[in-house]
Amino acid sequence: MKRSCRDIRAEFIRFFEDRGHTFVPSGSLLPADDPTLLFANAGMNQFKEIFLGAATRDYVRAVNTQKCIRAGGKHNDLEDVGQDTYHHTFFEMLGNWSFGDYFKTEAIAWAWELLTDVWGLPKDRLYATVFEGEAGEGLEADAEARGLWARVTDIDPSHIIDGDKKDNFWEMGETGPCGPCSEIHIDLTDDGSGAGLVNAGDARVIEIWNLVFIQYNRGGDGKLTPLPDRHVDTGMGLERIGMVIQGKKSNYATDLFVPVIEKIETLTDHRYGASSGKSDRFDVTGSQDIRDVACRVIADHARTLTFAMADGIIPSNEGRGYVLRRILRRAARYGRQYLDIDGPFLVKLVPIVVDLMGDVFPEVAERGRHVTDTIREEEESFGRTLDRGIELFRRQADELKQTARTVLPGGVAFDLYATYGFPVDLTRIMATERGLTVDVDGYDAAMARHRELSGVESRFKTETISGLPSVDDSAKYAREALEATVLGWVEGGRYLTQGALSTGDEAAVVLDRTNFYGESGGQVGDAGHLLWEGGKLAVRDAQIAGDCVLHAGVVEDGSLKVGQAVRCEVDSSRLDTMRNHTATHLLNWALREALGDHVNQAGSEVGPERLRFDFSHTRAVTPDELARVERLANERILADEPVTVGIMPLEEAQKIEGVRAMFGEKYAGQVRVVSIGTDDPAARADRQCAIELCAGTHMPRTGGIGLLKILSEESVAKGVRRITAVTGAGAVAWAQQTERLVKEVSAALRTPPARMAERVAAMQKEMKQLRKHPASGGAADLAVAAEVDSPVGKVLVGRMDGGDAGAMRNLCDRRRRKGAAAVFVGGVCGEKVMLIAMVSRELVDSTGVKAGDWVKAVAPVVGGGGGGKPTMAQAGGKDPARLDEALKAASAWIGEKLA
Ligand code: ATP
Ligand code: MG
Repeated sequence: MKRSCRDIRAEFIRFFEDRGHTFVPSGSLLPADDPTLLFANAGMNQFKEIFLGAATRDYVRAVNTQKCIRAGGKHNDLEDVGQDTYHHTFFEMLGNWSFGDYFKTEAIAWAWELLTDVWGLPKDRLYATVFEGEAGEGLEADAEARGLWARVTDIDPSHIIDGDKKDNFWEMGETGPCGPCSEIHIDLTDDGSGAGLVNAGDARVIEIWNLVFIQYNRGGDGKLTPLPDRHVDTGMGLERIGMVIQGKKSNYATDLFVPVIEKIETLTDHRYGASSGKSDRFDVTGSQDIRDVACRVIADHARTLTFAMADGIIPSNEGRGYVLRRILRRAARYGRQYLDIDGPFLVKLVPIVVDLMGDVFPEVAERGRHVTDTIREEEESFGRTLDRGIELFRRQADELKQTARTVLPGGVAFDLYATYGFPVDLTRIMATERGLTVDVDGYDAAMARHRELSGVESRFKTETISGLPSVDDSAKYAREALEATVLGWVEGGRYLTQGALSTGDEAAVVLDRTNFYGESGGQVGDAGHLLWEGGKLAVRDAQIAGDCVLHAGVVEDGSLKVGQAVRCEVDSSRLDTMRNHTATHLLNWALREALGDHVNQAGSEVGPERLRFDFSHTRAVTPDELARVERLANERILADEPVTVGIMPLEEAQKIEGVRAMFGEKYAGQVRVVSIGTDDPAARADRQCAIELCAGTHMPRTGGIGLLKILSEESVAKGVRRITAVTGAGAVAWAQQTERLVKEVSAALRTPPARMAERVAAMQKEMKQLRKHPASGGAADLAVAAEVDSPVGKVLVGRMDGGDAGAMRNLCDRRRRKGAAAVFVGGVCGEKVMLIAMVSRELVDSTGVKAGDWVKAVAPVVGGGGGGKPTMAQAGGKDPARLDEALKAASAWIGEKLA
């Protein structure tokens, strides 16, 4: 029976577990604590600190399958994807690891055993490359590896091939750990004639496995020194080895891809690979039918989008989010343009990907809903501009063709980007398809101008500091002062372990142990002081680098030497940060309670002043929902529930029902579990319990938070909302400030707070009236609300705001002169209501209607009283909001009298 890729993955892991390796789950695609990296792009990312000597683990042999994306930064395979059949943007890298334990002998022997013995690959089709050395740099050839291939395997000696520095020498960066590597390639030609094609970029002979032997350290001066601990780092693409074992020549013919392509085929008339005439139509290579390319691009990108979004990367306009958006748009365009697919379709592929991989990577199953919502929205919004962009491009291309030019101006490419959302590589591909090129320099220049204007800057630092020691920071959870010793400091990107700092110097100090919390998991780094006999350093911020904590600050007094004993005092603002962190967990819990289980944390920032919490939710939270969230969280604060912290193995923590982890964080074997309300495992299934994997600092009980007050709720990206809130002293300050504001406004309006809203509404209405009927020369006109006939002429009821009693009387006079038999006018003057009634002598005499009776009947409606003569009367009232009601009463009263 044929092995499935699922089997192959499992067999790889088993093989190395049987040889003493510990299985380590894949790190997140979002390298949270490594700003130098756009996406996880190799198995070694999560072990980098070990190689730098800045971290240790409780195992020396590891095996893993790492989720990788190579679509930006140092490794970018995006443009090959779809064109060839063995580079993906997202792939799994299987790896075995030795951290200072076994070295080349075992690595080579086991690789050979697994490939040829366990999986039965034909030995005559395998090639091993070894480093040939580079005299110019004083690098020796890897004779050891060459000898071992010949000795510990039965590979055909003529299949051991030399490779140059580019292919066979691996370096992590400008400085740091490095060493030669040995790659295993496979000859997929029909007749086994591929010997000359190794490392020639030919799809018929491709690399499947890279064994890296880390044995040197490159110092700042460029010199190599042998490492005391030598390491093994290997990487093998699951999709490629799957293809080989399943006897195919294309990764897209494996069971990882065929179901996805079949789903695409339900959306279009095209049949993948049908034109090749091959018996297995999925197993085509180098087919240049653009529709086949489109199917590959879409299948590949659907996986990338699903996995990236499940790890919390959200399409946006900068950094990794923008790379993701470009990938989505590239796939969307291929589908529309070449496969005639209408409307969102990538979203329909997500369930297939989840089906294929959801058991091995539960995060894609758990966040499937969030992924589909986000993809659908992105596709819909891109769809709206895509057709118009394609049209603009077509017009521009036609124009160029007519004038026999072949370069699309950079300005046009930028326009396509800025107005229609076309990433420049998309434009470039479209241009290539029409035999054109893009003026990329011109595009870059236009982009740079745009960036300057909008102040967008890349947020990725590029330096890694090597040689940092591992530091004990277990005291960070207590806030007591701690005695420690200075080991050195980082200045200008380098770690120095001798010399001295004097007053005014800025540096990031390294201590042998610390109680400072280094920024991580969304909690900001602590501020505070390092104190010693005759000196003081103010710590502005504490940052984590591997297993080391950097205390960044400035020497305020005295001088500081390596070896100096210092007293570490963390600022008391840490207590506020603790309040905010515990409150963040309550908020996370309350949001799910109030809005539903789809709410997932998408990021957070917890500092002493406030907390910010981002979460997935596709619409605005209503004021009622927000009030409920706030109420729920505060109920638990008032209940003064205990907050407990437990350390347990990751596997055990994952079994707890309802446990939440901030994705993107690195978890070693042991994790820290923070529970609010209970630490009784039996009660954990209860939704009342808020449990998270979290390394942050927390209050011992919820009561200490005091009060949680939400300040705002807003959108930060498609499908992501942000809540900003304060607690403790911040909440008290908020309450006082709000009270002060209310008092000021109340005084200005001369209205008690409870009636301010009414008052403002009335004023707004008044202003609207005034705008409609501006007072001409002080003589505002009557806004007639009702007209009633009488035997001696019309009776008018209406309002005139903003005048005084005199102006209102004048108005009544004017209307009387124009023939009205009676006039009743109400108006808002200042914060009072004024009512005036005038009745003609004829009307009084003929009907007995009296002005005094009229106002007396109406005034109570606006909370007032008054009276006067039969022909003229006036009253005051104090309820402007009910003036219209009063006017209705006035017309009802007169209507009744005259009926
Ligand atoms: P290539 O030269 O084929 O691009 P590479 O030298 O970039 O490969 P490594 O960085 O050594 O590859 O990665 C280790 C292994 O990961 C490779 O041997 C290969 O099996 C796999 N791999 C690398 N890049 C990709 C990719 N874009 N898609 C699928 N598998 C890949
Ligand atoms: Mg590559």
